Formats: sequence, C-alpha cells, structure tokens
Amino acid sequence: MDYDTLIVGAGLFGAVCARELKQKGRRVLVIDRRPHPAGNIYTCRVNGIWVHQYGAHIFHTSDRKVWDYVNQFTEFNHYINSPVARYGDELYNLPFNMNTFSRMWNIATPAQAKEIIDRQVAEAKKDYHITEPKNLEEQALSLAGRDIYEKLIKGYTEKQWGRDCRDLPAFIIRRLPFRFVYDNNYFNDRYQGIPVGGYTQIVEKMLEGIPVLLRTDYRKSVTKRDGAFCLGQDTFRDVIYTGMIDEFFDYRLGPLEYRSLRFETQELPETDNFQGNAVVNYTERSVPYTRIIEHKFFEFGKDSETGEPIHGTVITREYPAAWQQGMEPYYPVNDEKNAALYRRYQELAQGEPHVMFGGRLGMYRYFDMDKVIRAALDTVAAM
Ligand SMILES: Cc1cc2nc3c(=O)[nH]c(=O)nc-3n(C[C@H](O)[C@H](O)[C@H](O)COP(=O)(O)OP(=O)(O)OC[C@H]3O[C@@H](n4cnc5c(N)ncnc54)[C@H](O)[C@@H]3O)c2cc1C
Repeated sequence: MDYDTLIVGAGLFGAVCARELKQKGRRVLVIDRRPHPAGNIYTCRVNGIWVHQYGAHIFHTSDRKVWDYVNQFTEFNHYINSPVARYGDELYNLPFNMNTFSRMWNIATPAQAKEIIDRQVAEAKKDYHITEPKNLEEQALSLAGRDIYEKLIKGYTEKQWGRDCRDLPAFIIRRLPFRFVYDNNYFNDRYQGIPVGGYTQIVEKMLEGIPVLLRTDYRKSVTKRDGAFCLGQDTFRDVIYTGMIDEFFDYRLGPLEYRSLRFETQELPETDNFQGNAVVNYTERSVPYTRIIEHKFFEFGKDSETGEPIHGTVITREYPAAWQQGMEPYYPVNDEKNAALYRRYQELAQGEPHVMFGGRLGMYRYFDMDKVIRAALDTVAAM
C-alpha cells in the first residue's frame, strides 16, 4: 500500500503527529522497536497500581492549548508533585522552600532564612575565593551556601552526572528556585496531574485506527528505493523520525553523548506504605540510587478504578548510569562539544529533505511532555 508518512517511534511525539496527520487525511503507519507503544511514558498495571516503567512522569503545563488537547484523551487527577529529599536520616521538602529552611536551621521566618543563606553565600565566596564560578561546585556554593549545597545538591548532582561537582560546568545550575513561602508544589505550572488510568491509554487513543507495527526497527526493516521509503510491500513518501539522530546516520560523525538510567522495580505485597510519598530523592553520594518512586502515591494509594485503598505496594529505585550503545539514552548531554556535534548532524539532515527529525532523540533535547505535544502539533501544522 502507498502511504504518505512513516512515523518511527510510537512515543508521545510520534503519536501526536500520527493522530494529527490522520485528521488531515494523510495515510500514516507507525513503527516502534519496543514491544509496547507510548515510549518512555509507558505505564503498566501491577497489582492494581499504575507503574511508570521509565521513571516518574508528572504532567504539568501552563500551555492551555496543550492542556485542553491532552484532556481529550484522559482525565487527570489532582496530584501535586511534592518530592522529599533524604540525607541520612534527615528529611527535607523540595523544592527549596520555607519547609526546607525551617527543617535545616530550625527557623520560622523568611527573613531568618534569607539572612542565613546570604551569610553562607558570603562565607563560601570568601573561603573558596569565588569571583566568577568556574565549576558547578562554585556556582552552587555562591547561590545557596554550604548547608544546602552539601546536603541537598552535591551528592545528588554527582550521582546524576557520574562526575565530581568540581568537574562539572557551572552552567548546569543557572539559578536555584528558592521559595520563601511554605509551598512544596515542585512545579510552578498552572495545570498538573497524573492521568487516571495511566499514560499508555493516552497514546493508544491517539493511535486508534492507525496501523502500528511494534518490535520493528527502522534500521533493520526500512529501505530506500526510487526516492521512496519501503517497508515490506508498503511505500512511504516521507518519514517522521523520533529515534536518535546520530544512530539514523550510523554515527557517521561520531556518537552523541547521553546519560542513561537503570530502574530496579520491586513488588512489596506485604507492605502498604513504604515511604509515605511518591518521590523520595536520596541526596548522599554513598547511596547509589538517586530516588525511590512509590507508584501508588501518584494516585493517593487508591485504585483509580474502584477508589478502594490498595494493599501492598510497588517501588522503583532509579540508578543513573553512563550510556553505551545498546542502552536506553534518557538525557542528552547538552554541553558545547555535543551541541556542536548535533549541529553537524542537523547539517547532514538537510540532505534528507523527506525525513523530519522530532522528539527528544531526533532533536537531541530534553523535553517535558507538554513541550513534546506542542512541538508535534507545530510540526504537523507546518506540514
Ligand atoms: C526519567 C524521566 C522522567 C521524566 N519525567 C517527566 C515528567 O515528570 N514530566 C514531563 O513532562 N516529562 C518527563 N520526562 C520527559 C518525557 O519522558 C518525554 O517528554 C517524552 O517521553 C518524549 O517523547 P518522545 O516521543 O520524544 O520520545 P520517546 O518516548 O523516547 O519515544 C521515541 C520512541 O521511538 C522508538 N524508536 C527509537 N528508535 C527507533 C528505531 N530505529 N526504530 C523504531 N523505533 C524507534 C523508541 O523505542 C521510542 O518508543 C521524563 C523523562 C525521563 C527520561
């Protein structure tokens, strides 16, 4: 059959493009090399709990159009992301706000908190001779002072990047969002929540009526003949590619760098409440994981279908990892070297006028879900 567009990747970017192109009357087919749709927002149900298989995903946006768009496919609950940081036996609310400062210094007012932060910043600048921060450690110390840096930033950041803060560039932390109010809501966005019934159903609804081939890798199954892209008996005029741009070109210019993650999920049928919160960050470097997710608390510990309390729990430990070919690339490393290499891949991409690169891997950019939807809608509007 002759199709208009082959969409590589049944993640959020690919699914929005597929649906919108179909609405425009285009014939589209979607492939994905994974055994399931939804890419990294895939959720599956384990003992009545929606488990976020590729890490905690909280939908948040201030973009009204995107919020209305995604609400066509699901209802959202009223979850507000309020992570807790654990440093030894000390527990701190995040983001940095009056609850954090009050616990750290046993103080009560914003003036007291500001006074301590200003004093610690001045001391750190003097002790470390910081004028222009040369690395992430100096940057964090000159923004937050010693206590917050050492207890809440240092170990967590070093684990995330696999490097000492002194060997990381200052620009990774441009500013620290201090809040001098008692407010644990991590995001500033107007709309926020977790989809009732998980994320996978959103993508499944977007892909309704569209042929989808899973376990199908573009590089192994698609060829080019007479200017058209061929997959078995099917031909396509153009391609939307949401996989890695460097992989598409067989790493011709060298590989881009990514950070990866390893998820270790544990079912605990005898434990009803493991940590009392959906997300707990572990900020000491000696603890090998960065956070533990207790999935049931994205839905307040209740079954989203029956409203009944769920017995037992499921937790996931998240371990940062260096990325190697064959592993899942989660985060692009947006330093100068990789940005320059990505620009050279973009130049190569200009020689492929019938391939459009999109999504987090095609554009080598960290994207939140709302930004992915916005980018996909804009892409299709321009086609
Ligand atoms: C740990 C983590 C936590 C996050 N938390 C949040 C959050 O709380 N809130 C938020 O808004 N966003 C969050 N995000 C971002 C969110 O995951 C992304 O915005 C979204 O998943 C990107 O969608 P995508 O379609 O671009 O990419 P993906 O979901 O990666 O989809 C790309 C798809 O393409 C397929 N593919 C790749 N190459 C090929 C090939 N050669 N052939 C066939 N198929 C191929 C892949 O298998 C994949 O399914 C988080 C991301 C991570 C990593």
